[in-house]
Amino acid sequence: MHKTATTLADGRELFYYDRTAGTVRDAVDERPLEPAASLSEIRLDPVLGEWVTVAAHRQQRTYRPPAGECPLCPSRDGRHSEIPAADYEVAVFENRFPSLAPDSAAHVAAHDDDPLRTLRPGNGRCEVVCFAPDHDASFADLDEPSARLVLDAWTDRTVELSALPDVRQVYCFENRGEEIGVTLAHPHGQIYAFPFVPSRTARMINRAEAHRASTGRNLFEDLLAAERATPERLVLQGEHWTAFVPFAARWPYEVHLYPNRRVRDLTALDEAERAEFPGLYLDLLRRFDRLFPAPDGAAPNRTPYISAWHQAPKDGGDELALHLELFTIRRAPGKLKYLAGVESGLDAFVTDVSPEAAAERLRAAAPH
Ligand SMILES: [Zn+2]
Repeated sequence: MHKTATTLADGRELFYYDRTAGTVRDAVDERPLEPAASLSEIRLDPVLGEWVTVAAHRQQRTYRPPAGECPLCPSRDGRHSEIPAADYEVAVFENRFPSLAPDSAAHVAAHDDDPLRTLRPGNGRCEVVCFAPDHDASFADLDEPSARLVLDAWTDRTVELSALPDVRQVYCFENRGEEIGVTLAHPHGQIYAFPFVPSRTARMINRAEAHRASTGRNLFEDLLAAERATPERLVLQGEHWTAFVPFAARWPYEVHLYPNRRVRDLTALDEAERAEFPGLYLDLLRRFDRLFPAPDGAAPNRTPYISAWHQAPKDGGDELALHLELFTIRRAPGKLKYLAGVESGLDAFVTDVSPEAAAERLRAAAPH
């Protein structure tokens, strides 16, 4: 992997990741772009003990531009996008409309003295990961070397963002599909570098620590061994990775992908694990796209999904195992699972697809 670091006209950082060493990426951002005023604050919900990020400036962000104005396409034919190069393989840049902004402390004063009104600057960072230059592609369309390049970019960003002084956790994810609320069609994901440990991660770590205290073993290792021993929820097995539908899946179709060797984060994966990941992950994404027929029968089906990397925080949380959670909100052709009163009101999920049936359908959605 070959990396080139540069800056955009307003000072934001941009990185090109290329497969070939020596690739020259020297295009200059020619846009007259003023630095955007980004500030963010995090407030602690005193009842739930969860941080909420308040990023009120984001309402002006780009909303579903026409393809000709896509800010993630390469800059070509006199049109300037967020990526100055006329072509690229994988590009990562700081979001111009970030939920977490590194200079928030200059504008937001911390209030730590009142337990009911705990507020701090949202000193984190949000980055956009462009998976491919082709506007109409999808992650599932990538070849294995391109998917490997994305994995290497996620890993590099985890290293770099973890080194920022206020960052506690790095979260790489992809939202795919208008149904998920994606505002840009170009194949891309995001990375949030949080100045706190999000509550879901904290809960996983608490459960794993309790499991260690009561059994002396690691929760995730026990879980993976149990799932590997019972085929009914297994979807894919490689030499180094295992994909299964979790026992208590929340979403209609949900798969968790774990390296067989427990590691805390992306940076700890070894070469054999990195080499095998792209094939398995692409296989999973393509199975998701085969779950439902395309609406008009002609266009390639694009199942909306969220793909989320769970990794241990920068400090502590060593019981957590790196894994990827992939799920769709589509429960049947043309039907979406909405988070309504029970889920949104109480965070108590109800699913009407049994995890075992979901696994069976995903196994059957193999390439023809
Ligand atoms: Zn585009």
